[in-house]
Amino acid sequence: MRLLLVEDEPRLARSLSQGLRAEGYAVDVAGDGVSGLEQALSTSYAAIVLDLMLPRLNGYRVCQQLRRAQNPVPVLILTAKNGEYDLAEALDCGADDFLSKPFSYVVLTARLRALIRRGAGGRPAHLTVGDLTVDPAARRCTVGTDQLRLTGKEFGVLECLARRAGQAVPKTEILDAVWDSAFRGDLNIVEVYIANLRRKLTTAQADCTIETVRGHGYRLTP
Ligand code: CA
Repeated sequence: MRLLLVEDEPRLARSLSQGLRAEGYAVDVAGDGVSGLEQALSTSYAAIVLDLMLPRLNGYRVCQQLRRAQNPVPVLILTAKNGEYDLAEALDCGADDFLSKPFSYVVLTARLRALIRRGAGGRPAHLTVGDLTVDPAARRCTVGTDQLRLTGKEFGVLECLARRAGQAVPKTEILDAVWDSAFRGDLNIVEVYIANLRRKLTTAQADCTIETVRGHGYRLTP
């Protein structure tokens, strides 16, 4: 699952992005409002963590312009400011939630999970394909009643396929959804993860398979 962090304070941006990566998210970081808005408009993110006081374009305006562009991505605003007026203005601009600095990292990740669960435009809370169930918010995956143990990236690839179950998903789309923009490796990395997932699904005796769609990508079918 891919997140965008828009934060101009380098130390906070670094520690937050490291923490979120450790939770299994792919994280892109933008250091000012204009580049944050550009990235948000050009890439599909599971959620955006947006600082309010930013150079070039503040968080209120970033959020407002996203909504004007009909972009429904969940937005969590982070701010050193405090008070009812700021909270109201942030929500009026189209933000979904609000957290004041200094904040607890545990609360931030819990709020993010809740936002992603509610999703943009009513995404289902669980994805089901045959006896496979993927819970994106809890990052849990089960086959029947048994938990399927996956690495963060394996989970991301499977989630991406499960969101579009029955449809062929191009490798480039999987790469964009699961790896952040700092990844400069080979597109064939996706194949490695598909091979691992097939092995784990077979071992778990799941009644769904990942098919290769020649010249296109992969399809998860029951
Ligand atoms: Ca700031």
